[in-house]
Amino acid sequence: MTTLPSLLLPAGLLTLAVLALNLPWVPEASLEAFLRVFPWVVLGLGVLLGVRFRRGRVVFALLALALADSALRSYPRAPASEDVGRFAFAAAAVLLPLNLGWLALARERGTLTGSGFLRFAVILTQFGLACLLWMMFDRGLTALLERQFLPTLLVPTAVLPHLALAASAFAFAATAVSWARRRTYIESGLFWAVAASYLALAAEGRATTAYLATAGLIMVIALVEATFAMAYRDALTGLPARRAFDEALGQISGRYAIAMVDIDHFKGVNDDYGHNVGDQVLRFIATRIAETDGARAFRFGGEEFALIFPGTSRSEAVSALEKKRKELADDLFAIRGDDRPKKRPKRVEPRPVGPPRLHIKVSAGVAEQGGRLLKPEEVLRAADEALYRAKRAGRNRVCT
Ligand code: GH3
Ligand code: MG
Ligand code: MG
Repeated sequence: MTTLPSLLLPAGLLTLAVLALNLPWVPEASLEAFLRVFPWVVLGLGVLLGVRFRRGRVVFALLALALADSALRSYPRAPASEDVGRFAFAAAAVLLPLNLGWLALARERGTLTGSGFLRFAVILTQFGLACLLWMMFDRGLTALLERQFLPTLLVPTAVLPHLALAASAFAFAATAVSWARRRTYIESGLFWAVAASYLALAAEGRATTAYLATAGLIMVIALVEATFAMAYRDALTGLPARRAFDEALGQISGRYAIAMVDIDHFKGVNDDYGHNVGDQVLRFIATRIAETDGARAFRFGGEEFALIFPGTSRSEAVSALEKKRKELADDLFAIRGDDRPKKRPKRVEPRPVGPPRLHIKVSAGVAEQGGRLLKPEEVLRAADEALYRAKRAGRNRVCT
């Protein structure tokens, strides 16, 4: 799951690139020197990390960006006197967005795998195929790539050939759709890489290289963010994980309360309905617990959750938890069956028996900082002991 700041980080990077290229007081010579090493550093680092962390889509996006950059450097758009230059630009302007859009829709299949090698071949083949087609058809092919087929009303001034505009539109749509579906850092990175690529194609000379390298950097940062998120987020529930809780505990200050929440008789759910349903219940409860007033919720482990209430007294935390406990106990959890259709059927057949519905209840223990309890670890231990008392007293309750 992406968070808002990390979603906006690529936009900030892109703005920085625009500023660096356009502000008059950035010295020309240092910009030149920087752009000689920047793309290579990004490519090297990205490929290394992408292979190591098995993020083939990042590696291949970097490859597509590097190939487009080398084509556009060898054949700059302006002055477009050379025919081969016009062709190289028109081809790169179509192929780069198509590749990024395709990678956004594709599933992760690694780099040093069968599918990885196939993808590698697909991207390299395009390069070879473009050269071959150029040798066979030369200007006729350029004319085809540069054909204006969109109505002038839609594209009043053509920044790019129409086919390239269509390819970019596809890439924007593909990356946006896959981000909406998967919500990962890599998807959001690909979306912003498409935006940077569009700027690169619309720009000229060293600005093109600067934007393409920025697109690469966006992908590298997305990979680092994705890896970081894996360490700190629980994959099943999407809640911050134990490691995040331990760190939060170490940084806590001032007044606070801590609660431990445990699902009652959860083993029975697994035993009666299977692990799959158990996982469904865990996700359901986690989402609800994350909405507890005034609390930051973590998956502590198994079917236990830890909550930190910053700036909150024990009694305030207890009433927030009581509200949550009642809400959960009154609710019925409907099990999603395996036969549930993906799409809504036109006619709903009445079921002989409805899907099984479960009452899921939780117990909680709360403790607050103060008195004997000075260190966070002591507050945590006290909350755990209170949870134990809640269990012994019959479950489905909050104890202090
Ligand atoms: P109590 O009311 O005393 O808390 O009883 P309980 O059954 O909830 O507690 P117990 O500690 O005996 O069992 C916890 C169970 O939670 C055992 C384990 O199989 C299950 N569990 C832990 N993590 C997961 C998970 O990620 N998915 C599923 N499906 N089950 C899990
Ligand atoms: Mg339990
Ligand atoms: Mg437990």
